[in-house]
Amino acid sequence: MDPQELHAASIVIDTHCDTLLSVLGDKRSLLERSDEGHNDLPRLKEGGVTAQVFALFARPAALGGAVPTWESLRLLDAFYQAMAASPELILATKAGDVRRAKAEGLLAGIIGMEGAEALRGDLGILRLFYRLGLRNLGLTWSLRNEAADGVFEERTGGGLTEFGVQVVRECNRLGIMIDVAHLAPAGVRDVLAMSELPVIDSHANARALCDHRRNLTDQQLEGVAKTGGVVCVVFVPSFVAGQPEERTLGKVLDHIDHIVSVIGADHVGLGSDFDGFDDTPIAGLESGAHFPHITAGLLARGYSEENVRKILGGNVLRVFEQVAG
Ligand SMILES: [Zn+2]
Repeated sequence: MDPQELHAASIVIDTHCDTLLSVLGDKRSLLERSDEGHNDLPRLKEGGVTAQVFALFARPAALGGAVPTWESLRLLDAFYQAMAASPELILATKAGDVRRAKAEGLLAGIIGMEGAEALRGDLGILRLFYRLGLRNLGLTWSLRNEAADGVFEERTGGGLTEFGVQVVRECNRLGIMIDVAHLAPAGVRDVLAMSELPVIDSHANARALCDHRRNLTDQQLEGVAKTGGVVCVVFVPSFVAGQPEERTLGKVLDHIDHIVSVIGADHVGLGSDFDGFDDTPIAGLESGAHFPHITAGLLARGYSEENVRKILGGNVLRVFEQVAG
């Protein structure tokens, strides 16, 4: 099959973007094409994206955040406002919503939370966010919060707190995917050991190819795969390669190759982090419109159509269905 045809026929899921932050308030619109930032509805449609996980990121106190629950709710409102203004954007709370988006040519938005700051140590708030659509939860951004230590907390290197353990249990019970992106290694270990459902890393690469603390070691890759989960390759230039001249589309494909070689094609996905980084994007992966380049690149490397479909979104959809229904 020709790459464009295969891409158009596939369910494509991007498991992480920070676009809600860049459309909040009077900034650009999620629904109108812009030259700014990386994502908007027209660019995602051009890129053949079926479902986009939109992160609710509330700044930790160290970054000036004071009222994380309010900040997260404002971001969620930005999504709901866009949905109210466009019949082309729907909320996906179950796998069937993603399939419907594919069948009807819509964009499905899946709500994710990047860091448990907004929960304020209260499972009741988690349950309310679930009712509002939350289906993916990363316990931390890179710093410490009530649930766990993030990956920048290298001195303590702590795992999950008692609250963090309760959050994982409650997410399992409710049907929210647990996301180990940004967690310190001890926390990753804790989540992998205790989650009864598949776990994802919504945006990380292979540490073996790029020694960045946000990337996963082969052992961590194996741990995620053991849960039945998926590691979603990220396009943030500094997570792709240390040397700027090596930050290429080919290198992103190298990360996919490596992860496939360690844990197989059933455990790899895509998590761009579009609108979540300021560096110049990788050539060929400048925005949500460029996902077809991944498909073309994988086919050129000899991936079967079946495996390309899995990597583009089939694997994440499998996990989403197992966890959220
Ligand atoms: Zn992130």
